[in-house]
Amino acid sequence: MQRLALFDLDNTLIDLDAAFLLWAQEFAEEHRLSRKAVDHLIKLDRNGLPHRELFFAKVRERFKLSNSAANLWAAYRRRMPHLVECRPEVIAALAELRALGWRVGIVTNGTADNQLGKIQQTGLGDAVDGYALSGIEGIRKPDTGLFEIAARRCGVSLAAGGWMVGDHPVADIGGGHTAGLRTVWIDRGAGVGHEHSPDYVVTDVIDAMEILCTVSK
Ligand SMILES: [Mg+2]
Repeated sequence: MQRLALFDLDNTLIDLDAAFLLWAQEFAEEHRLSRKAVDHLIKLDRNGLPHRELFFAKVRERFKLSNSAANLWAAYRRRMPHLVECRPEVIAALAELRALGWRVGIVTNGTADNQLGKIQQTGLGDAVDGYALSGIEGIRKPDTGLFEIAARRCGVSLAAGGWMVGDHPVADIGGGHTAGLRTVWIDRGAGVGHEHSPDYVVTDVIDAMEILCTVSK
């Protein structure tokens, strides 16, 4: 199997939940909401409102905000790239994989401005060989097409196989499996089941990278 490692971005290479908490605190302050509002925003996020347009429609309604949902969402996309961080050890581990001959890439679903901003602000853009963003390509994980684009950007063909590392059971593990990749699932403790069993289960992306280093030796 060729040395191709594709990674999900949110809550895999970066801790989106931590950035979301910072954003929620700022948002509550800016709109003069109570401290309870932060809990409400987090609950709304965790309860599976991944589509931000819908999320902000609910937020607007709940807190009786005058700004449109579209404006609130746009402000969120502008701010989030400045709140996310990629730990230095993650950047270092990516460099280590590349030194071992791996091609590394990012495959992520989300809007172009937000995802691209996060990749650039965190330094991940320079730490990988290529990336494929659903908001730019018009195709979303778990569709194999987005994995194919990411592999191509890394200078290889998906047909020769590789690995997918991510936290989402369907988009990352199901998608990776269907794309013919071996998979490592980042288990964030949500207790969700899998239709496709991952090859490995870890709790931190660093552990996933260690597995890749080991299998390539
Ligand atoms: Mg994710």
